[in-house]
Amino acid sequence: MESVAEEDHAVVIGGSMAGLLAARALADRFKRVTVVERDQAPARQPAFRRGVPHSRHVHIFWHRGLRALETLLPGACAELLESGARILDAPADVAWHGPFGRFPRIRAARFLSSSRELIDAVVRRRVAAHPGVRLWYGREVVGLHAEHDGRSVRGVEVRNRGAGGGHAGEPLEAGFVIDATGRGSRASEWLRGAGCAVPGKIRYESHFGYASRYYSPPEDIESEWNGLYIQASSQDPHAGAIMPIDGGRWIATLGGVANHAPPSDEDSFLEFARNLGSPAMYEALVCATPLSTPVGFRNMANERYDYSRRARWPAGFAVVGDALCCFNPVYGQGLTTAALSAVELSRVVRAGGPRERRRLSRAIQRAVAAPTAVPWLIATGEDLRYPTTEGPRARFDTKMRQRYVAHVAAAATVDPVVTRAYFRVLAMEERPGALLSPRLLRRVLLPGQQAVERTSSADRDDFCAVAHNRDGA
Ligand SMILES: Cc1cc2nc3c(=O)[nH]c(=O)nc-3n(C[C@H](O)[C@H](O)[C@H](O)COP(=O)(O)OP(=O)(O)OC[C@H]3O[C@@H](n4cnc5c(N)ncnc54)[C@H](O)[C@@H]3O)c2cc1C
Repeated sequence: MESVAEEDHAVVIGGSMAGLLAARALADRFKRVTVVERDQAPARQPAFRRGVPHSRHVHIFWHRGLRALETLLPGACAELLESGARILDAPADVAWHGPFGRFPRIRAARFLSSSRELIDAVVRRRVAAHPGVRLWYGREVVGLHAEHDGRSVRGVEVRNRGAGGGHAGEPLEAGFVIDATGRGSRASEWLRGAGCAVPGKIRYESHFGYASRYYSPPEDIESEWNGLYIQASSQDPHAGAIMPIDGGRWIATLGGVANHAPPSDEDSFLEFARNLGSPAMYEALVCATPLSTPVGFRNMANERYDYSRRARWPAGFAVVGDALCCFNPVYGQGLTTAALSAVELSRVVRAGGPRERRRLSRAIQRAVAAPTAVPWLIATGEDLRYPTTEGPRARFDTKMRQRYVAHVAAAATVDPVVTRAYFRVLAMEERPGALLSPRLLRRVLLPGQQAVERTSSADRDDFCAVAHNRDGA
């Protein structure tokens, strides 16, 4: 690749979803973009990578995020579908059990159901094909190259993780640096070390945990659902999901709060599924063939840095993705938010952005933070329902919102108009304010809109009957 001036070179630290999409956006302004990724180069085909351990758990990608992805990488969605991912419409295609019962089967919010490895492989191939982007694997960023008491970032220190790589970092100069290293980001530490005052992290930890496993679905299944989702609530802090993914497989994820987190040994996995609020998940899994052993995941807190509010933000630097703001993943918002932030980044750089480096950095940091506001409100507001959640206590307005949303969730089990509105907000298609329209308020708060019992007849999917009958069992 031809050598380019430092000002025309951008570096992205971390080559997962947020980093790859940020690189694609930056390539519209910088002649060369280098993505520095700690892991060794992954195979061309979808494969597990150490740096993304969460890929072994259910990942749904809301349609709003898919549209953003398509803006950045035209053709990506078609390739995902050709490779075995599926579009499902919730709650029509998904037997979705909320805290007050099962939601009616209407088409309200579409999402992509796929293995996370497939999504990453398709995005990676397409970003790597951009002539201005270079993916540099097996290299770990160990610090920022900052000047003037942290007022300007001029590059990064990179360490070779391969054989023969020492401990010392080598400088890689750049006109702009983006941190996309996920939950383990050390950006605040690096900036503080360079003399830049940075805000502390805001954290809400509900101690949610996952355990997941791949299955081969039973042959000749005839179920009225394609996907299954059993939500946790403050009354019943256990959750479960089965989603169809590429390779004709199911991914089954169990979830629970604090000491209700699911175990990851084989026998207890099924036992946990048996005790969920609906029997559907257990009945489906006992008929299916496990393809892997269960794996657990615990690091699922909501965390956010208010970097965009800093008056003194360094020139030439921004933070995106989970490194900036991450959510309890049960709400399925991280991928969509990463894609929306990358579109915002693209908008700023394509518009030319401010010429002066400091003003450009601030404009970018503000733009990428904007899409995090609503998912943060939803995830923290819901997590604060659990008495075990640690973090700043719920304010009066949060408590009022929680109460109203509980009424909405209850009404959504019996009134399809409310179901649709509820799912459109969950899928980030509408802002939460849409739930306060006079039409919705009337439907939600009018007497007579009683929630159905959680164990209604619709709850009892006779999932295995077909397979059992066929086998004469
Ligand atoms: C269990 C779980 C389930 C989830 N389910 C969903 C879901 O259903 N729907 C959804 O939308 N979102 C979901 N998410 C969130 C989603 O996975 C993330 O939002 C998404 O991966 C974007 O993350 P990222 O790119 O910011 O960081 P990550 O995916 O964490 O990637 C960070 C990358 O940076 C690299 N890296 C780290 N440090 C360095 C360094 N010093 N130098 C170089 N490279 C480095 C890592 O190797 C890695 O590749 C889930 C998350 C978890 C944890």
